[in-house]
Amino acid sequence: MPKLFAALLFAGMLPFIAGCRSAEAASSGEVKFRRFFCWGVPNTEANARKYAEAGVTDIEVKNRKQFDLARKYGMTPYWKCFTPAGPYPQVVTPEEEKYFAYISGRDLDPKMPKAERLKILHRRRIEKQHRYGGEQVVEVDTQSKPIPCFVSDDGLRLTREKLDKLMKDAPEGVAGMFLDFIGYTNHHGCFCEKCLAKYRKFLAGKKLADTPESKKLFYREKLVDYYNAVITYIKSKHPAWKIALHIYPDFRDDHLYGNRIKADYCHQTVAWYFKWEEPKIRKYTKSVVGHAKDFYPHAEGIPFLGLSTDESSSLGYKTPADVERELKIILSAGGRTLSVCSGSAIIEPGYHEVFRKYCGKASPR
Ligand SMILES: [Zn+2]
Repeated sequence: MPKLFAALLFAGMLPFIAGCRSAEAASSGEVKFRRFFCWGVPNTEANARKYAEAGVTDIEVKNRKQFDLARKYGMTPYWKCFTPAGPYPQVVTPEEEKYFAYISGRDLDPKMPKAERLKILHRRRIEKQHRYGGEQVVEVDTQSKPIPCFVSDDGLRLTREKLDKLMKDAPEGVAGMFLDFIGYTNHHGCFCEKCLAKYRKFLAGKKLADTPESKKLFYREKLVDYYNAVITYIKSKHPAWKIALHIYPDFRDDHLYGNRIKADYCHQTVAWYFKWEEPKIRKYTKSVVGHAKDFYPHAEGIPFLGLSTDESSSLGYKTPADVERELKIILSAGGRTLSVCSGSAIIEPGYHEVFRKYCGKASPR
């Protein structure tokens, strides 16, 4: 059959095929995620098999054994996860410092048994509506662990050192690297002397007044610049590597800024650990997918879903039915790729079946 005729015939049939497929898919639950990133590691043969059965396609590995397991079960391995480096912890406001000390239990006896300590911390975090780096619901919320001031890592000296160490043992055949935890302890900026000096220079250079809007512009620019500098450095050593990152912690009032980063796979939250309403999940999914290429044409926006399966944790709790509901919303909003943390939740009984249904293949590779 001549190619042109075949193409025309096929094009003519498209609405029919598409119509059939969508009606059929909707009734049989056939619409599935085609790519599934897992923020867990395949540490045993049994786990690796379960992840593959759940439909995981891309996964972090931390050693040779995990690398081999990922490959054996047909998953794409990423070599370790980079978190930011800097000369000292970020500086927050006195009010934020007080909150941080309370929810991180700085006042508690270091010799206190771990279980008892955790119970107190969960109670405090629930009381203070701590959101673990997700969108805050109260005016003051911070991370529970300090993040280094990456803005002050001049010339990327400490960052390059850390990256060199991470990349040194990468086995031949890894697909790339994960990045996480790049952001501000208080979600909006670091107020150390070096950052403040850079901020003043920024204002003078752009002839801007010192306003909340200027601060937001400056700290977002520093954040995006750091991400891009890290990615440029990794790719200078491994040009073929792909970079998958999770936008975390949240940057206040500008949650979906991730498309400004030249990552290959930018995971942005569409459903945090704490349950969100359907319209919000839908809106965020559409934005993450639809605006992924606004700044970089090669970038892919990956909808991220936070999942805690522990009912007693202050990190929220979702049942398998909750997860199914969220996956259906993401799919119906046009999401066809997915990223989940914690990864180990994917293979827990009850949850595993849900992921298999929406992400798994008929017969795992
Ligand atoms: Zn700083």
